[in-house]
Amino acid sequence: MPELPEMEAWRRALDGPVSAFPIEKAGPGHIATLKTFDPPLEVLEGRRLVGAKRRAKRLLFPTEDGELVLVVHLMTAGRLRYLLPGEKRPKTPAFRLRFEGGAELILTEAGKKKRAGVWLLTPEAADAELAHLGPEANELDAGQLGEILAGESRRLHSLLRDQRVIAGIGRAWANEILHVAKLSPYALSKDLRPDEVNRLHEAIQSELARGLELRERGANDKRTYRIHNKLAEPCFVCGTPVAQVDFEEHTIYYCPECQTGGRVLKDRRLSRLLR
Ligand SMILES: [Zn+2]
Repeated sequence: MPELPEMEAWRRALDGPVSAFPIEKAGPGHIATLKTFDPPLEVLEGRRLVGAKRRAKRLLFPTEDGELVLVVHLMTAGRLRYLLPGEKRPKTPAFRLRFEGGAELILTEAGKKKRAGVWLLTPEAADAELAHLGPEANELDAGQLGEILAGESRRLHSLLRDQRVIAGIGRAWANEILHVAKLSPYALSKDLRPDEVNRLHEAIQSELARGLELRERGANDKRTYRIHNKLAEPCFVCGTPVAQVDFEEHTIYYCPECQTGGRVLKDRRLSRLLR
């Protein structure tokens, strides 16, 4: 799933183009993708978008008149593309916006499952829809992070991915951040010492910035990630083979030397079953 760096790179790329021309035709949208029907999509036609904004892993496209916001959540397999007039179009995109002059914003989704979503909302309804989200991960200061960590005792990997607590981090960047912070994915948030809180804060900022820079240059997953999906490859810091463990619904990647003092983490799902 695209996370904060990926979505922010997309936002920056789309910000100018989507506001260049008024919308000529909105939709159609796949029945599973379009999550709202009132107001109808047609009310977008003739209006101009003011640009692209982002909240957590969602993109927001407000209209210039301030009356409407188009919200897009790509989930795992959704992709947004801005196509110039004459560029080849996918036959049945999940959603499309055509602009005057012929450019199009296209949402496609690989695979049969349609999980990506598009909402057309008033600004008030959009605020309500996004109200459950925590502060943006890349805007947190160390003090705020310390308060969040002290607020509840949770395993770090799980807490970092909880959008209601901190917005924008998913499993890939949680792996990258915890590796740079030299912290165990299973460490409990309340157990962190002040120097560890600072390390985690620095790692969140530096890793999200590194990710954004790479994604803006078009780097793929293989080049962007250094720990995530790198099972058995040497850790880039110490050379120890990267390990993995299943936790909740995710596979965590980590370095046993850098992060867990040489200990191999146990599969929590399995140990729960055997208890
Ligand atoms: Zn290592």
